[in-house]
Amino acid sequence: ADIAMYEAKARRGNSLCFFDPSMQVSLNARARLVADLKRALPGNQFLLHLQPQLDQQGRVAGAEALLRWQHPERGLVPPGQFIAVAEDSELIVPIGRWVLDSACQLLARWQHDAALRELCLSVNVSARQFRQPGFVEQVLASLQASGARAHRLELELTESLVLEDVQDSIAKMHQLRTRGVRFAVDDFGTGYSSLAYLTRLPLHRLKIDRSFVQHLGESHSDDVVVQTILGMARNLALEVVAEGVETQQQCDFLTVHGCEVYQGYLFARPLPLAQFEAFVRERAGPAA
Ligand code: C2E
Ligand code: MG
Ligand code: MG
Ligand code: MG
Repeated sequence: ADIAMYEAKARRGNSLCFFDPSMQVSLNARARLVADLKRALPGNQFLLHLQPQLDQQGRVAGAEALLRWQHPERGLVPPGQFIAVAEDSELIVPIGRWVLDSACQLLARWQHDAALRELCLSVNVSARQFRQPGFVEQVLASLQASGARAHRLELELTESLVLEDVQDSIAKMHQLRTRGVRFAVDDFGTGYSSLAYLTRLPLHRLKIDRSFVQHLGESHSDDVVVQTILGMARNLALEVVAEGVETQQQCDFLTVHGCEVYQGYLFARPLPLAQFEAFVRERAGPAA
């Protein structure tokens, strides 16, 4: 099923607009959301959907793990409706740990499957979670407990997360990088930063934000921004993932300008695990 539909359903079915961050959320509604969120982990209500990331040959190179909340009354809730509140309430710390553990368990399981063992899995990390003093140890513990290989795990950090404490970010990233963990800058281009910091970080990839991809071929300024990001990434030897690729025209523009990895509804929406694995098997080349 389709996320936009879930969101619309959640909105329609709820006169309080309980989960809708674009509206004034009353303190009451927020308190209820926090109370429900506290029950979500012990109640086993979280799950991961996986969105395929394709290479230029159309093969699935990896996936982004995207958190979903199976709310007992409200159905499947997308992260835009609860991550911000989870961050404010510190609940993001145990939730983030669950996401990491689950992702590592998945990677470990894929190791035993010829069609899946080469996949990389990207996990979103929120600022609160990353700033925890034990964050590095937590990631290493997740890897160790599961038996997942570190170089199959990518952590997505936003520019603003990195820049709020550059020294701490660099230190933590280096500790994990030396163990094999990869890093991507998520939503790249939406920050207000100078680009100088990029060369100081042990990065593997940049993810071009969907907002720039959306109008490719229609907006001269977005075309220029994307070409500039791709050129810069090439000079810095960083791989680029384009987020939110929805049309063939966008995909063609990205290919012509050297983008290597594509993620978006043109190929697949975020999928439940079984559907994701079936998608990978379907797409596997004759060699796989
Ligand atoms: P993000 O990391 O930038 O993830 C990409 C979002 O774009 C996902 O939304 C995905 O479903 C959506 N998307 C992908 N392709 C397309 C497309 O072609 N068109 C459109 N319109 N959208 C597309 P989703 O799953 O609702 O997640 C929203 C945000 O929630 C994520 O943005 C990320 O910042 C956050 N998030 C998701 N999972 C986690 C998590 O486990 N931990 C944390 N801290 N944040 C998470
Ligand atoms: Mg992301
Ligand atoms: Mg993003
Ligand atoms: Mg985003």
